[in-house]
Amino acid sequence: MTTTRTLTLTEPSRQTPIYGEYDVVVLGGGPAGIAAAVSAARAGRSTLLVERYGFLGGMGTAAGVTNFCGLHANVHGDIRRVVHGVASELLERIDRLGGLNTPHALFGKTVAQAYDTAAYKIAADELMASAGVHLLFHALGAGVLMDAPGRIGALLVETKSGRRAIVGRAFVDGSGDGDLAAWAGAPWDAGDGAGNFLYPSTMFRLNDIDPERAGNAWEVIPRLMLQAQAEGRYHFPRKTPIVRPQKSGIEWRVNLTQLANVDGNAMDGTDADELSQAEVLGRRQIASVAGFLREVPGFERAYIVDIAPQVGIRETRRVRGHYQLTESDVLDCASFPDTIGVNGWPLELHLKGDVEFRWPKIPESRGFNHLPYRMIVPLGVDNLWVAGRCASMTHEAQSAARVTGACFVMGEAAGAAAHLALEEDGRAAGVDTGALQARLEAQGAWLGRED
Ligand SMILES: Cc1cc2nc3c(=O)[nH]c(=O)nc-3n(C[C@H](O)[C@H](O)[C@H](O)COP(=O)(O)OP(=O)(O)OC[C@H]3O[C@@H](n4cnc5c(N)ncnc54)[C@H](O)[C@@H]3O)c2cc1C
Repeated sequence: MTTTRTLTLTEPSRQTPIYGEYDVVVLGGGPAGIAAAVSAARAGRSTLLVERYGFLGGMGTAAGVTNFCGLHANVHGDIRRVVHGVASELLERIDRLGGLNTPHALFGKTVAQAYDTAAYKIAADELMASAGVHLLFHALGAGVLMDAPGRIGALLVETKSGRRAIVGRAFVDGSGDGDLAAWAGAPWDAGDGAGNFLYPSTMFRLNDIDPERAGNAWEVIPRLMLQAQAEGRYHFPRKTPIVRPQKSGIEWRVNLTQLANVDGNAMDGTDADELSQAEVLGRRQIASVAGFLREVPGFERAYIVDIAPQVGIRETRRVRGHYQLTESDVLDCASFPDTIGVNGWPLELHLKGDVEFRWPKIPESRGFNHLPYRMIVPLGVDNLWVAGRCASMTHEAQSAARVTGACFVMGEAAGAAAHLALEEDGRAAGVDTGALQARLEAQGAWLGRED
């Protein structure tokens, strides 16, 4: 049967079995969802985390990111770890499994920290078990049932066992795409207002590299790319390659693809057709990029050991909340009285053909901005928190606070706030931010308050 987007069919109404009833239901098992679920469960709330894949980590594993950014900030020239709490516990578990690199320097301004995806997946499972989080894997969130205007009653999921309803009192949208918030009717923005999202990339890893000969290859690869392109032998989808060793040194991760539609605009991670085309295009670009990298000294025998399970999506919906984090908040290291933690990552805009970084003044500034509680409280839906890359930020600010460190921060705060809200009237907007801050600090989070 051929269909077009304008044709519809009417499905018969149906009775949907209830999978379970929980205090807190978290959609999405990326860094935001992981931290939210642990935080809520540790507060004694029955908590279910729903994830469409069979493992946790979100883009960090499913898109092969393998590198934590935003855990550190350059504080007046001193590079410090600024994200703690649930993130620290997860990192310690990854480290115990031998899967965590020491932090590596970036641009002489900050550090990031690489990890192995296999260790991340195991560590995240263990963390969930230790906190008493119930997991429902292989469940695709598909819609919501509203109890009342502005109040979600249940999340609908499609599973191998069939369609199920998950009844909850509080919901956290950690889907990265704002799926749950959009179904519930919260307002959202997309891209830069001119139809462009941050461009997606498909990540891959190469193996059998000679670490001695490869040395600091990331320093010469940009020049070799220019040369290969000038000679007409390769055309690269973007400049600013990220090609770095994993812990073993024989394995390197490569972040060098860029996925655009034929019109040149970024592919839309909420459009099923564009996602399908992006997967194929990403692998095609990888074949070409890997061919080029085999010309780099030390990479001659390199083979593609892994292509990420899915295309890496940086930005889709950004759900509008009671505050929208802005570019100047990031660049001017803004403070907020309702801080829930900090972002220490600069703007990292994946634009057409290139990546542009914009930094707070270093070393004059403190190098991080507060993340206000209001940015995870969406407009229009009372019992919902939106944490992670789909939280309330402008397009520019999202290019900074979408990285993993800030997503852990937002998630941990969402889980703790859901617990506090359930002690009162259940409304996200009604949470006492002083009580939330005290709770987060007791959990080991750092809120960036200089006193
Ligand atoms: C190519 C690329 C490179 C990057 N590089 C870095 C880097 O080096 N360092 C860094 O810190 N960050 C990096 N990032 C950014 C970072 O990985 C993400 O922004 C971060 O993971 C976002 O976290 P999140 O929890 O908000 O969402 P996500 O990580 O996107 O997790 C969302 C989760 O929800 C699940 N989900 C979504 N919709 C549904 C649904 N309907 N039903 C069920 N489950 C659902 C997904 O499967 C996923 O597990 C990169 C991103 C990309 C794409």
